[in-house]
Order: sequence, then C-alpha cells, then structure tokens
Amino acid sequence: MSATAVPEIVRALEWARSRIGAGDARILLRHTLGCAAAHLVAHPEQSLDPNEWARFQAMVERRAVGEPIAYLTGEREFYGGMFLVTPAVLIPRHETELLVELALACFGDRPRTRVLDLGTGSGALAVTLARELPEPEVTAVDRSREALLVAMANAVQLQASVSFLQSDWFSALAGDRFHLIVSNPPYVAAEDPHLEEGDVRFEPRAALASGPQGLDDLAVIAAGAPHHLEPGGWLFMEHGYNQAAQVRSLLTDAGFSSISSYRDLSDIERVSGGQWLGRTPVDDANGEP
Ligand code: GLN
Repeated sequence: MSATAVPEIVRALEWARSRIGAGDARILLRHTLGCAAAHLVAHPEQSLDPNEWARFQAMVERRAVGEPIAYLTGEREFYGGMFLVTPAVLIPRHETELLVELALACFGDRPRTRVLDLGTGSGALAVTLARELPEPEVTAVDRSREALLVAMANAVQLQASVSFLQSDWFSALAGDRFHLIVSNPPYVAAEDPHLEEGDVRFEPRAALASGPQGLDDLAVIAAGAPHHLEPGGWLFMEHGYNQAAQVRSLLTDAGFSSISSYRDLSDIERVSGGQWLGRTPVDDANGEP
C-alpha cells in the first residue's frame, strides 16, 4: 500500500499489525479516529480521511521504534481514572494501585485525612486519593515543574482537590505534618539494564533511577518522614521486587512500628510501610518516656 493511498479501517489495521502487533494497532487507530473499539469491528470498510491516515502512520512508526503507547495517545488509566501523561512523567503502573488500596484500608473511613504524595509525577496517587478518601486534604510535591503541570491538569480534569508544591522531597514542607505519606519514588539501580529496555527507555530517568542500589531516595524518604508525620501516622512506599527487606530496615532505623511489606497482583513485595508512633530513635536513646 502506498503512503498516499488512503485505506479503509481493515486495511489500515492490517498494515499496522505487521509493524506493531494487532493490539497496539487497534489502540492507535481508535485514538486517531476518536472512536470506540466496537466501531473498528463494526465498520471495517470505512475509509480513513487523508489526515487521519497520515496521523495514524506517524504514530505507528513512532511505536515501531519503541515509544510507549501512553506517550503516543497521551493517556493512561489508573484506578478507574483516565490520566494525561507526557514524557515529563512516569507512566502510571497497575502495581502502584496497591498503594491506593493500602491507604484506603487505613484511612478509608476517617474523614479529613491530611495526605502527602512525594514525587507525584502524573498525580496518579494524589488525585486518586483525593477522589477516594472522605474529605481529605491532599498535598502533592514534585521536584520537576513539568511534572507538576501534568499533575495539575489531571487534578482539574478529574475534579480532585489537591495542593501542589514544587519540592525536592520534604525541602519545601517546613514543619507541615500529615496523617499519611505515600510515595512511588525512583528506585531502580542506576546501572540496571532494565533502564535501557522497552518503554522505560523513554521515561524520565530522574523518576526511575536512584543511586547504585536504587535505595537512595527510599532512604531519604524513610528518614525524613517522622519529621512530617503526626504521631500515629503512616508511611507507604513503593519499591523494587528485591528491595523489601532493605526498605523494612530503613523504616526500622527511622523509628517506625508495625512495619510490613505488601504484595502486588504478581505476588511481588511491592510496597512497604509502617506507623510512626511519635518517638524518634533519638528520643529513645535519650531515655525519654
Ligand atoms: N516499577 C518501575 C519499573 O520497573 C519503576 C518505577 C519507579 O522507579 N518508581 O519500570
């Protein structure tokens, strides 16, 4: 088929299938035509217009060299909400929904929980918790201004009330304290070959890599959280498949209680967290009651 001949839906899908597979071909054609999946099946004989064909071909070529579907369509679903995503933010992952579930299990029936989302990226966690918790006060921070703009757009789009702040972890939070801190920080080891594979290659490196073992940011968050939690407050952090024991020990060192790791749907320990009862290791060492 020549690049100028404008095909019907069925021919366009055939052309794309050999380059990027049937599933991705359908997603990109639906996106180009702005139609439902059923429309592609019901109207295989419908012709694309030249503009649609040109846009579809361009997207297929970009997908063929590896660009993530979510950056091409500009959206990804997370916990039932459709989030705008750009290459300034990590693409929301299903396993991160575990953080939402843990937060809801702890605070789902407590009104007015003050929540902090550290490194909010697309805002997936902050916006979802603002929608799911009863009358929460959600603050979301990110070091990246570009990421904050995406997160703000998502809060508007999904009608969630979230306060956004540019902050390098806790740096702009002064003495603020929260009942719940959640974070999906960067946690991949800097030299991990995974960073050069698949969709991950196109995602912001700063949202993925964190020092030689991937633990640098998890350590900063665990150590800083007691200074920003109300007594009795909880911290939950996502981490890599092989980091649970190390993250639990970071939480122990920081003075957390009820420390646990939680498994995602692939049965991988994916989130660890604990409760801060209001005493720091320094208090204990000083023999304070
Ligand atoms: N789970 C992601 C991956 O392996 C990493 C996400 C992160 O670093 N927060 O690609």
